[in-house]
Amino acid sequence: MKKFVVGVTGGIGSGKTAATDRFQSLGITVVDADLASRVVVESGRPALKAIEEHFGSDVIAPDGQLDRRALREIVFADPDERKWLERLTHPLIAQEILSQIQSSTSPYTILVSPLLLEGNQHQMVDRILVIDVPQDIQINRTIRRDTTTKAGVKAIIAAQMQRQQRCEKADDIIVNDKDLASLHEAIDRLHTTYLDMANARHKQL
Ligand code: ATP
Repeated sequence: MKKFVVGVTGGIGSGKTAATDRFQSLGITVVDADLASRVVVESGRPALKAIEEHFGSDVIAPDGQLDRRALREIVFADPDERKWLERLTHPLIAQEILSQIQSSTSPYTILVSPLLLEGNQHQMVDRILVIDVPQDIQINRTIRRDTTTKAGVKAIIAAQMQRQQRCEKADDIIVNDKDLASLHEAIDRLHTTYLDMANARHKQL
């Protein structure tokens, strides 16, 4: 049966994890695109073998796992290598995400991804929820969480999709500018809406 899937996205430190933790505590399965992208290059997977053959053993750590930092440095410096890597991994990540969504048994399913709106992942969802946050709060929360610098966070924000562009693509927006209790209340309200939508979908089928 076709699942009802809600995509959750937002910039760095916007509160995606805080939001999806709440959905999870309401009994909703959360599929994490970041985790899926790690699974497909785990040791023993064909993709890791292909990466080693292409980039050499320098990108393999002594424990046999992918050395993400070494690989990141290569592909950041060379757009063609980045494209090669994306051509290999993106279809595998999409397959992994779809299989996790298919295994979900909750009334609807959440797909959380920082890149939901950048590539094709938005095609896997029925509805888009953006966790939005004013930039000063975003910077402060991220610095507190990651012990990074303001300049570091600003550089990441600049490289990500801009706030307004993201919000234009949203069906639902939560502005996460108050305390966690307020975020939870907003999620709980949307949860009721999504349950209704999922029910309506299943009645149609
Ligand atoms: P990333 O994309 O960088 O992984 P994220 O969007 O998943 O980030 P979170 O990790 O959920 O963001 O939130 C960033 C930080 O802000 C965390 O330390 C989280 O606990 C905190 N936070 C999130 N929402 C609130 C809130 N409403 N009030 C207080 N702290 C919050």
